[in-house]
Amino acid sequence: MESMNHGDPRLDRIVIVLHEPQNLVNVAGVVRAMKNMGLSRLRVVRPAEWDAWRITGIAHRADDVVERTEHMDTLEDAVADAVLVVGTSARPRTAQRNYRYARDWAHRMLARAEEGPVALVFGREDRGLSNEALDLCDGVAIIPTNPDYSSLNLAQACLLLSYELFLAAQGEDRPLPRGRRSTGPASRERMETMFGALEGALTRVDFFKARTPESVMRTFRTLLSRADPDQQEAGLVQALGFEVQNYLDRHLPAHSAEDGGEPNPERPVGET
Ligand code: SAH
Repeated sequence: MESMNHGDPRLDRIVIVLHEPQNLVNVAGVVRAMKNMGLSRLRVVRPAEWDAWRITGIAHRADDVVERTEHMDTLEDAVADAVLVVGTSARPRTAQRNYRYARDWAHRMLARAEEGPVALVFGREDRGLSNEALDLCDGVAIIPTNPDYSSLNLAQACLLLSYELFLAAQGEDRPLPRGRRSTGPASRERMETMFGALEGALTRVDFFKARTPESVMRTFRTLLSRADPDQQEAGLVQALGFEVQNYLDRHLPAHSAEDGGEPNPERPVGET
């Protein structure tokens, strides 16, 4: 199908699937949300009612989406061509599934849309998606809400997910310009030097004691990797590690000799 020219071809490959929607006003709300967020492909499975005129009466200037809507007999047909199928639910059910929050799925869906159609499936207003419907999904997106009142209106749930997709597409196509002082991401080599300096300092202050350095350092690796430091930040942590060692060298040279501690390879001061 041709692009509807809203900027990102990946958004054209996101297919919103409504499984047995019961209320026409909600269907119109979905169409409107799709138009707002640059989505264009809708499939409906056995809607309780369908009236293009009334839908476009609510979702003005959405005739293109309504005319293009594909009517399917089964959910299986509606998702058959999708390279990724994501269901939606207000909360986890009994079975363990690949639950992730909506934002996380939005990024994954967009990346996968490079390769083909990606289906995002919504359940009916009164019962949501059945277990059998969820079985057709690779995973389930949950929009975080008040746990005591987690069920969103169908069109509003669709709006929030479409918004996440829209933001994800914008973010990836138009990366934020770097701040003047940004130094760019730390290379793996830089990260390894940082971890080495940190481990050296922790060893010298006898931090590990009975703990296994390897597992403690793994926790630091996980923590600091999650922080995604830029070069300057990694340099700061590295300097902290080297400075602790340099300090001990100056003030406790005997201890240093006992340790057989390695001389510091670099002087970090003023380095960053
Ligand atoms: N009583 C139903 C409510 C369904 S709401 C139930 O408890 O399951 C209709 C549809 O909106 C759901 O099937 C789902 O597709 C979507 N939806 C509602 N709340 C949501 C949430 N918090 N996260 C993700 N999707 C949600």
